Amino acid sequence: VAGKIRAPDEFALIAGLFAPLAAGYSDAYGLTDDVAYLDVSGRDPGGGRLRRGEELVVKTDAIVATVHFLADDPPDLVARKLLRVNLSDLAAKGARPLVYTLAVMLPREVDLGWLERFAAGLRADQDEFGVMLVGGDMNATPGPSAFSLTILGAIPAGQRLLRSAAVVGDAVFMSGTLGDGALGLRALHGEFAELAKDERGYLAGRYRLPLPRLALGRRLRGSIHAAMDISDGLLGDLGHIAKASKAGGLIEVERLPLSPPARKLLERAPALLKTVLTGGDDYELLFTAPPEAEAALAAIGLELDIPVTRVGAIVAGKGVRVLGRGGREIRLSRSGYRHF
Ligand SMILES: [Mg+2]
Repeated sequence: VAGKIRAPDEFALIAGLFAPLAAGYSDAYGLTDDVAYLDVSGRDPGGGRLRRGEELVVKTDAIVATVHFLADDPPDLVARKLLRVNLSDLAAKGARPLVYTLAVMLPREVDLGWLERFAAGLRADQDEFGVMLVGGDMNATPGPSAFSLTILGAIPAGQRLLRSAAVVGDAVFMSGTLGDGALGLRALHGEFAELAKDERGYLAGRYRLPLPRLALGRRLRGSIHAAMDISDGLLGDLGHIAKASKAGGLIEVERLPLSPPARKLLERAPALLKTVLTGGDDYELLFTAPPEAEAALAAIGLELDIPVTRVGAIVAGKGVRVLGRGGREIRLSRSGYRHF
């Protein structure tokens, strides 16, 4: 059923669109009760439940129309990105995803077709990442539509990967490639006509559909110090690790892992370095470890087919410095993207 419907029946929408997403989790009672239950005893080894000796990891991330997505973005991709940015935070903490709740704020005139495609996007990623909807809320709003997703994951108790665990002398590593998401957003806005269509498509895809590095995060747990995902840009996010660890950071531009399209763009327009370092939307893992761990970490990356690259170091002092060719310092006017 497509088209606008007026004042939708909240319960009909929940039953039709969202209850099927909770069908695999019996303790959500088909979203017909007020709450869902999570057995944390480890006695029930079923999907979405905690195992013995595990602790919960919780994360919330919200998106607002016109701020985080646009009205004409494909709704399935909007949903999948919302789920994936939350999964990316679990990945950075080495967690196994369990279940999630979703709060939906919609204008009074709801485009049902849009919402159906949104739910189909959630279904696709639930199947891909083995996570289930267990509850949520739906409200009408006079403002733009907004979605808030809270996800629960599990780690072996005590094996926390904190921002504050970096040590002076650590090497800084990241997964995947840097800058594709931010360059992809600009490609979606019509820039980079010098690239081939498939190169622009690659970058746009990296913006719209991040790859949460769940398997990598779980493998890294135990052999690294500090960790987080890169959502606000490498420069800003390494700054978060450095500050929490009461240290400074160094980024070596020559080491940055770039995709072929990103490398091509940067060769033609070196000023794009700022977008690459501060644009955000990478959703790669950023972590620190003793420099001796480099070979072992690279081997884990090779095994999982995800590049793991050493991009800098944790040093004494404050703030993050960016070093270019020959170790010369590069200054950028603003680090990362600040919401306020
Ligand atoms: Mg994060």
